[in-house]
Amino acid sequence: MKIHEYQGKAILRQFDIPVPRGHAAFTVQEAVEAAQKLGGPVWVVKAQIHAGGRGKGGGVKVAKSLDDVKKLAEQILGMQLVTHQTGPEGQKVRRLYIEDGADIQKEYYVSLVTDRQSQKVAFIASSEGGMDIEEVAHSTPEKIITEVIDPLTGLGAEQAEKIARAIGLPAESIAQAVTLFQNLYRCYMETDASLVEINPLNRDSKGGLIALDAKFNFDANALFRHPEIVACRDLDEEDPAEVEASKFDLAYISLDGNIGCLVNGAGLAMATMDTIKLFGGEPANFLDVGGGATAEKVTEAFKIMLKNPEVKGILVNIFGGIMKCDTIAEGVITACKAVNLSVPLVVRMKGTNEDLGKKMLAESGLPIIAADTMAEAATAIVNAVK
Ligand code: ADP
Ligand code: MG
Repeated sequence: MKIHEYQGKAILRQFDIPVPRGHAAFTVQEAVEAAQKLGGPVWVVKAQIHAGGRGKGGGVKVAKSLDDVKKLAEQILGMQLVTHQTGPEGQKVRRLYIEDGADIQKEYYVSLVTDRQSQKVAFIASSEGGMDIEEVAHSTPEKIITEVIDPLTGLGAEQAEKIARAIGLPAESIAQAVTLFQNLYRCYMETDASLVEINPLNRDSKGGLIALDAKFNFDANALFRHPEIVACRDLDEEDPAEVEASKFDLAYISLDGNIGCLVNGAGLAMATMDTIKLFGGEPANFLDVGGGATAEKVTEAFKIMLKNPEVKGILVNIFGGIMKCDTIAEGVITACKAVNLSVPLVVRMKGTNEDLGKKMLAESGLPIIAADTMAEAATAIVNAVK
């Protein structure tokens, strides 16, 4: 789960990481009031969307008068902000953050991320922070350093200092950096984050460090421990189909293709998408209905897939283990009737009560194309949507 920058900064503040003073604003009026409260003389008007790259897209602007703040708020609020992370259609700006303008001497990059390869938390840092970190990673990757943190000891002062020196922080900033990095690690662990990124971490002309941006991702499996983080969720920033699916406990991810897939088990769902691609098709979604799918759940899954106007056919691929094939057959039949299915449907099922399930589908009178192997199923659906 992601949150907005201003919410992230509130969390950083709780962990004693310096951030500029600021207020969120939902209207131009609130933006001006926020600026008045801060007092100036320089403010930054920042679009709050879940994607990064806002600066380059025109969503972060410096204001030198209250009049500027008003004009910029009018301009940014409601705009369709396009960044390299939003896709070409962009994301509508519904919230602003008004904060004190910082004295920027140099911008650094720091982040913590769960590193699957080392199975540990990695501290990633660079002297080249700011808006071009992707370019740095691409053309001068040696300027990005990674320190893997031992989960037993955590981030010690020595390792934190090593990072601070590696990114070239001057002597007068080292002690503050060590504390800041250790606090950041504590923040990452205690909030069950899977990513915390400060880009830029600014050094001012007096050597002081301050976080000018804050990006958090949280491990969805740990959210039950953090009601205060769940309260930050902004459904406007999420894919509506994925929001709907989460209400029914369905693991659903929207994709660009035209073949809807309904599968049980994440591994089988991945294999199904691969097989569709192998046979020249493109999946419209990833969908794992889980082990205990009921007829109701399957019906909701069909509804969600069919809301996508791109979907020209559906492939159901089920392994009947805990969930028996006849249960799924019943779910598919109920769902087809409930949604008045109008696109071709290929069903492949294997496992417990397979014969019974197949018989039910055959006798349902619905135009279901039965397939026995993965290859047959993929071929059938790819041909059907052509
Ligand atoms: P994004 O990463 O989405 O582009 P940032 O919050 O990093 O958004 O802002 C982009 C750039 O704007 C930063 O790299 C920094 O140079 C500048 N900036 C952001 N916040 C402030 C601030 N409070 N004071 C001065 N400059 C800022
Ligand atoms: Mg940034």
